[in-house]
This record gives sequence, structure tokens and C-alpha cells, in this order.
Amino acid sequence: MSIKQKILLRVASMFAVATIIVIFIVSINFRDYGVNSAKDKANVIADLVKTGLTAHMVNGTMDSRDVFLDGIAKLKDVEDLWVIRGDNVVEQFGPPRIMEEPRDNIDKEVIKTGNPVEIFKEGTSSALLRVTIPYNVTTKDTIKCVSCHNAKIGETLGAVSMKFDISEIRGQGVDTVINILITTVIAIILVIVLTNSILNPYLELFEALKNSIKKASRGDFKGVINTGLTDEAGEMVSIYDQFLEKLDRVFGEIDKKLRIFVATNNKDDLLRESTDIVGQLAELYNFKKAIELDVNKEDIYERLAALLDERFGIKNFTISEMDITGTESHIVFQKGEEFYCKREIFSDSNKCRAKRVGKNVVSSDFPHLCPSFDNNEKEHICIPITVGGNIGFVINIVFSTKEEIENKKGIVPFIHNFANEAAPVLESKRLMHILKESSLKDSLTGLYNRRFLDEYVEKLAPQVVRQKTNIAIMMIDMDYFKKVNDNYGHDIGDLVLKELSTVLSDNIREADLTVRYGGEEFIVILNDIESRESARAVSEKLRRKVEERVIKVGNEKTLKKTISIGLSFFPEDTSSIWEAIKYADVALYSAKTTGRNKVVEFTSDLWEGENY
Ligand code: GH3
Ligand code: MG
Ligand code: MG
Repeated sequence: MSIKQKILLRVASMFAVATIIVIFIVSINFRDYGVNSAKDKANVIADLVKTGLTAHMVNGTMDSRDVFLDGIAKLKDVEDLWVIRGDNVVEQFGPPRIMEEPRDNIDKEVIKTGNPVEIFKEGTSSALLRVTIPYNVTTKDTIKCVSCHNAKIGETLGAVSMKFDISEIRGQGVDTVINILITTVIAIILVIVLTNSILNPYLELFEALKNSIKKASRGDFKGVINTGLTDEAGEMVSIYDQFLEKLDRVFGEIDKKLRIFVATNNKDDLLRESTDIVGQLAELYNFKKAIELDVNKEDIYERLAALLDERFGIKNFTISEMDITGTESHIVFQKGEEFYCKREIFSDSNKCRAKRVGKNVVSSDFPHLCPSFDNNEKEHICIPITVGGNIGFVINIVFSTKEEIENKKGIVPFIHNFANEAAPVLESKRLMHILKESSLKDSLTGLYNRRFLDEYVEKLAPQVVRQKTNIAIMMIDMDYFKKVNDNYGHDIGDLVLKELSTVLSDNIREADLTVRYGGEEFIVILNDIESRESARAVSEKLRRKVEERVIKVGNEKTLKKTISIGLSFFPEDTSSIWEAIKYADVALYSAKTTGRNKVVEFTSDLWEGENY
């Protein structure tokens, strides 16, 4: 029930209750009035009858008393009237006429007791008052009864009985009640109409205020009210509207500005949206701060993966990174289910639809959206992320059901937010990596250079000591290389150096390292060697492989070259890795001076023999 209905019902009920009370009081009063006035009339009539009868008696005209009594009986409201003769009057003046005999027990009782009796009989259509008043002998009366009657004081000489019809008075009461009722109904209708017209604008305002506050609590501040009221309520509404407009403007601006930073799903609720955005910004800020301190790309991908797993509840996904040219791709992180994309995307990354079109690919949007996704049972979302202007990596998320993908679709913009934060950091790491690689690598052979060796051995030495392993260091120099330059020119010299670097790299393990130490000198480090013999065997193999290598130096021209190798061991030969490198150089010098195209292992006598 609305407030309006409640108020109107209460007002009407109050009026109804008041009316019932008034009607009740009026009815009682009218009835009492009718009865009391009949009683008064009865007493007056009784006195009149007594006086009249006495007069008839004294004047000796008792025979004509009926005319007198009939006259009185015709008085208004008197239904019936009769006189009863008491026992001592009968005794003194003889038996009564029939009409003066007691008519009922009331008459008899009054004659007997000398007490008056009043009986009120009320029905729906009639209201009768029966009154029987005795004539008792008293000394107070002006009429001296005892002067004619042989009676004692207190004895009852007779009585007069009367019946009054008071239904008319009662009828007047009913009319009054009906009038009150009609007046009240009209009053109630008037009050309802009046209350309604007074209350209506306030109740409408109340309803509008309720709806507006409801909207505002959901973050919609557009529910301004605009009332026609000019009183205090109108003033309040105008303040409220101004407040609402201010909130809408301020939150709208905050929201607009915040939206620049992050994408959200909450488009209708400004408050919720702003809170969400600020929360996300804080998360993004923390994420960005964390990845900025990460050392390399792998750490960043791992952090992003942890976020996908823990923050977004994604359990099956793969992150693939594009190479620097954008043509190839490779997996940098994988969790959960296997990678269902065809392997051809590794050699041609444009086979990946997300990479090619640069837009999210959601498999539930269209059947077989990406031909490279090779599992019809599964659903997938692929999110391409731009790094340095091109697609840098693609997040491939796998779902088992359509329902699952529908549930998770909404988080894609959030994943974009975080991945976009990672993008510039990844880009700078990538550039740093390229820069470092180029400064640490020799451009001719693609091998690491002396600068790299400096950094590398600093890290390697403590590791070797800690792991209690042994490494072999080979210092390699091409024999009579100058001649190549002299005979074939510098370009062929370069070609020969490239050939040498290939032979060296191809004949050692992946964990081993080849460095171009300078000119036509190379260092090969064999990690974690089994024994000195095995290292010697590798050195010998390298020497032999170079010796056997036929190098094409132009049309149909070939040549063969040899190398000399000096070999030392760390930490077996010396506890300083730099000294071990020096020892290898000493051994190389020995190989050169003792015939070239040979491997010489460092021995302490070589050191003592030379003056370095
Ligand atoms: P050996 O080592 O057997 O004593 O004789 P060698 O002729 O190899 O003598 P040396 O080691 O002194 O000669 C090194 C030559 O390598 C000198 C230089 O012209 C040449 N060289 C150094 N760096 C390069 C390079 O990058 N390209 C070319 N083509 N030649 C280089
Ligand atoms: Mg040399
Ligand atoms: Mg040389």
C-alpha cells in the first residue's frame, strides 16, 4: 500500500470512528431524552389526575370523571391511561367499575406496595413507556386525603397507569443520526479530496526522491527531480538537484579521465566504475613497478603468466613471442593444456590469425575462426599484444566448453590492460638485449667477442669452483694467416675466418663456448670436462677438422689451412682463470715455435722457460 493510500485510509478511519462515537452518544441521548420527558409527563399527568379526581369528588361530580380522564388520555404521546381503585377506597365507597380494576400484575403490585413502577419496552418499530404511579396518603399534600378517605398515612388509595409512545422522539433521533452520517460521509469525501490534493505533490516528490536516490546508489546521478513546489520542500529539491548535478559532473569527469588508462565492464554505475578503475590502476601500477625491476623478458612473461593464473583464474594458456622481424614465433610460456596451434605458426607467424589481424580472436564468435587452431573440441581466445608498433606476443587461452569461454570473455579487456603495461618494458628489454648482443658479438663471425669473454669468465669462474668441475681453455691461432690476406685479399681472409669459426662451433657441445679473441685468434672453452685426455681429444679433433676443411676461395679455387692450439685447465692448472687463459696463450706460443698445426698442453716448464 502506498503512503498516500495509508494516509487517506487513516484519515477516513478516524472520521468513521468519530462518527460512530457521535452516533452512539446521540442515540443514547435521544433515547434518554424520550424516556425522561415521558416520565416527567407521567408525573405531571398523575398529579393532574389526582387533582382532577379530587375536584370531581369534592364537587360531587364523580360520575363525569370519565370525560375528564378521556381528555387527559388524548394528550400527545399518551397511548392509554386508566385509574385503579385501591382496597380501602373499595371498602369505603364500594367496588370499582370494571375499568377501575387493576388490569395487570403491575397495577396490583403498585397498589400493594405503594411504589411506582416504570417499564420501558423497546422494539425496532415501537418504543413504549409504561408508568404506574400510586396515590399514597401523605401529610405533605395540599389535598387532605384523610378528610374524605378512611385511610391512614402511607396507605395507597389508588394508582394511575399510563402508556406513552416515545417512538416519535426516538425516530427524531434516528433522523438526526442519519443526518450526522450523511454529513460525515460528505466530510470524509471532502477531507479525502482535500488531503489528496494537498498531499499529492509531496507524495509525488517523495516517490521521485526515492527513485532518484535509488539510482544514485547505483552510481547514476542523472535522476534530477524538478518539482513545482515553492515551499521548503521545493528549496530542498533544488539543493538536492544541484548536489546531484555536481556529483554527475565530477564523477563523469573522473570516469572519463580514468577510462583513458584502463578498460572496464561497468558502463552504467559511475561509482562502481570509478572504484573499479582506481583499483585496477593500483594493480596495474604495482604490476608495472614489479616488471620494471625484472631482469629479463622471461621474468616478465612469467609474471604476466602468474597474473593470468592467479588474478584471472586462467589455467590453460600459452604465450608466443614474435621474433624481431615478426615472421617467426616461439613459445615463451605455457601452462596447463598443450598448445593446439599448428606448428607452422612458428615458421610463419602470420598463420596465427590474432597476429595477422591484430585483433582478439574469440572462437565462440564464429565456427573455425582460426584455421591454425587444431582442436575442434576446444574453444580459444587469442589476444595479440602490440610491442613497439608491431604484434610482439600473442596470449592463446584454451577453454574446454562454450560456457567457460562465455564466462571468461569479459576479462579480455583487463588482460589487455596488464599486457599493455608489460609491452613497453618488454620492448626496452628486447632493445637492450639486441644492443648487448651486438656489442658482445663479433659482426664477421657471429661469435661472442673478447668483451663478452670478460663478462662470461667473471661469472663462470666462481661457478666452476663451486661445482668442483674443471674447464679446458683452448687458445687457437691460424697458421700463416697473413699469407691468405697477402695472396687472396682481405675478403677471402674474412671468408677463411668465417669458415674457421663454423668448424670450431660445429665440433663442440652446445654448453661449450667459442669466442673470437681478436684477429685470427679464437678461444674455445670446454665446460665440465671429464678429464684432461678428453679435452686433449677435442682439441686434436678441432685441429684435424680444420686441417681437413677445404675452403672455396673463388671460382674453382680452394685452399686448406691449419691451426695451432694451446691448451690449459682451470682450476687444475691455476686458481686464477685469467692466469689459465695466459697459460693457454703460452702453450700456443710453444705450438707455433715448435712447428705449428699442433696442440700443446700447458706445462709449468713452458711458463718458466718463457719470460712473460
Ligand atoms: P702465425 O700465426 O702462423 O705466426 O702467422 P700469421 O701470418 O697468422 O701471423 P699473425 O698471427 O701475426 O698474423 C695475423 C694477421 O691476421 C694480421 C692481420 O692482417 C690479419 N687479420 C687480423 N684480423 C683480420 C681480419 O679481421 N680479417 C682479415 N682478412 N685479416 C685479419
Ligand atoms: Mg695471430
Ligand atoms: Mg696466425
